[in-house]
Amino acid sequence: MRARLTSLLAFSALGAVVAGCSHSAPSGAPSPSAIAPAASSRSAQMKPEDTEFWTPVPRVVTPGATYGAPPSDAIVLFGGTDMNEWVQMKDKSPAQWPVSDGVVTVNKKAGSIETKRSFNNYQLHIEWRIPEGITGTSQARGNSGVFLATIGRGEDGYELQVLDSYNNATYVTGQAGSIYKQSVPLVNANRKPGEWQQYDVIWTAPVFNADGSLKSPAYVTAFFNGVLVQNHFQLRGYTKYIGIPEYVPHGPSPIELQAHGDPSAPISYRNIWLREL
Ligand code: MG
Repeated sequence: MRARLTSLLAFSALGAVVAGCSHSAPSGAPSPSAIAPAASSRSAQMKPEDTEFWTPVPRVVTPGATYGAPPSDAIVLFGGTDMNEWVQMKDKSPAQWPVSDGVVTVNKKAGSIETKRSFNNYQLHIEWRIPEGITGTSQARGNSGVFLATIGRGEDGYELQVLDSYNNATYVTGQAGSIYKQSVPLVNANRKPGEWQQYDVIWTAPVFNADGSLKSPAYVTAFFNGVLVQNHFQLRGYTKYIGIPEYVPHGPSPIELQAHGDPSAPISYRNIWLREL
C-alpha cells in the first residue's frame, strides 16, 4: 500500500511538471484537484522520451583534487601566497594583513579588509583558525567575521560570525555560524582552537527596485565544517550591533573580513575561493 501510494505521488508530481511545461495547457487557473486527473490521464498517453530533455547541457567544471580545493571555475581570493585580491576597507590601500606559510592573519591595527571585486550571488569557501591558547570570553575570544556583502556604509554588511565557540558561552545569535544578531546556527559544529575550520556558503544577494525599495531579500545557506548551520535563511536586513535590521539599497558588493577590536590574539584565514552563480 505504501509503495503504491509513493508511486501514485511520484506519478502526480511528474504530471504536474509536465502540465507546467506544456504549451497546450488551458488558460485560466484551474484548481490543483482539477489539474491532477487531467495530468494523470495525459501522462498515461506519454512515452519516456517525452520528459527526457537533452538541452541545455550543463557546462563542465573540473572539481578540486580534494574536497575544499577550488574547482576550475573558481575565483581564488586567497591561495596562500599574496593578498592581491584584497584592500584595506578604510582607504582601499593594499591589504596589510601578513601572509606566511600559506596563511593570512588578521592585522587588528590595520583594520578590516575587503575584496577588490564585487559580487552578487555566489558559492564561497573559506577556512579559518582560532589560535591555540586563545584567551578571553564571550565576544572577546577570536572575534572576526565574514561579511557576505558590504552595503557601502563603512564596515556595515551581512555578517556570518567568526568566533571561538568551541567552549565559550555568548549570546547564541553571536556565536560562530550565526548570522549576527539575526539567526542562530542550527547546531554548534565548532572545532577546537588550533584546528582549521571551514565555511561553505551559498549567498543570494538582495535585489532592490529602482526607487530603492526591497524587491527580494537576501538568503544564506551555510555549512560549518561540512555541517548545515544556516538553511536558506532569509535576512531581515544588514546585521547591526545595535538595533533592528533593515535593508539599504546596494548593488554588487565586496566581501569583507573583519578585524575585530577585541584584545584576544588574531585569527587566521586560508583557502578562500568563490564561484559566481
Ligand atoms: Mg564578528
